[in-house]
Amino acid sequence: MHDTTILDYEFEAHPQPVTAGDRESLLANPGFGKIFTDHMVVIRYSADRGWHDARVQPRGPIQIDPACAVLHYAQEIFEGLKAYRLPDNGAALFRPAENARRFRESAERMAMAPLPETMFLSSIRELVRVDRDWIPEGEGASLYLRPFMFASETFLGVKPASEYLYMVIASPAGAYFKGGAPSVTLWTSEHYTRAARGGTGAAKCGGNYAASLVAQAEAIREGCDQVVFLDAVENRFVEELGGMNVFFVFEDGSIQTPPLGGTILPGITRDSLLTLARDAGIVVREAPYRMQDWQKDAESGRLREAFACGTAAVVTPIGRVRGRGFDFTIGNGGPGLLTEQLRSQLTAIQRGTAADPHGWVERLF
Ligand SMILES: *Cc1c(COP(=O)(O)O)cnc(C)c1O
Repeated sequence: MHDTTILDYEFEAHPQPVTAGDRESLLANPGFGKIFTDHMVVIRYSADRGWHDARVQPRGPIQIDPACAVLHYAQEIFEGLKAYRLPDNGAALFRPAENARRFRESAERMAMAPLPETMFLSSIRELVRVDRDWIPEGEGASLYLRPFMFASETFLGVKPASEYLYMVIASPAGAYFKGGAPSVTLWTSEHYTRAARGGTGAAKCGGNYAASLVAQAEAIREGCDQVVFLDAVENRFVEELGGMNVFFVFEDGSIQTPPLGGTILPGITRDSLLTLARDAGIVVREAPYRMQDWQKDAESGRLREAFACGTAAVVTPIGRVRGRGFDFTIGNGGPGLLTEQLRSQLTAIQRGTAADPHGWVERLF
């Protein structure tokens, strides 16, 4: 029988791609999420035809009807992963199968058609190969890949759509922070929570971000960099930031991170750091941690370091935490030793400059 999880891509080359000279100057200082490559992937789904019409085509606007379901009922999910330039000028992806699996799980939570994982992986490989010249070189630089999918059916009515559009776009990114990540100050949201048990907290859906923006705006208004969310039931346990997981490092050398229980996003960076720490013989706990204990332990010195992690910013030291009626500093407020060690170990594996004992790196060319 025909394997319906393998599609042939129809390729339409961009008629006027960015010239090599212009591309070079764009790649010299790409920033984050502002410039895009020449092509994109599009795959369509309909209930009667399944996945079909896989294309790599010139990147550009798409037309949707004003009654397009996603505009009204927000069935939308996405992923974020990076292609890295290797020392020999090849390129690699980091644990892309994990993104494929999470994308399928997000789709299932949002009652969307799950994209077969093989199709997710082939779409990423196709786009990176076509736009390979867009992978920037240099420390901290990468090609950020953004697969996403939304309900594309034209109808008003609350039910799962029967048509979806899956797409991948790519955006060259410089170091998220130049010259090493500076420590961030967190604002503890008092009024807003990110996710409740049974909700969509573990799905990577745009709606989670929409719901977090007002809390993030409050953090900025308070002079902080990022918001940290507490649990929705007791408002006491640390969950995660708007888009990054969080880790604590103690004076006995152990580390701790909030457990996956459906209310936080199961980060691939989180999982990779847990694995690297266990490999190094570090005692690791996935256990709830109260904000109150975070403050007490930071003040007593029992807590030495804290950091946030995710694909975009990799590892970001947390220097200070504020909230209504409290304000405390972690360590000396700067990046901690173990934080820096884990960050450099992870990035060395991703960039092919350190051994890859877990087979996390997939070479593309
Ligand atoms: C994507 C994301 C993360 C980090 O996941 P990674 O797989 O490490 O990039 C953490 N929290 C939220 C809310 C996210 O959307």
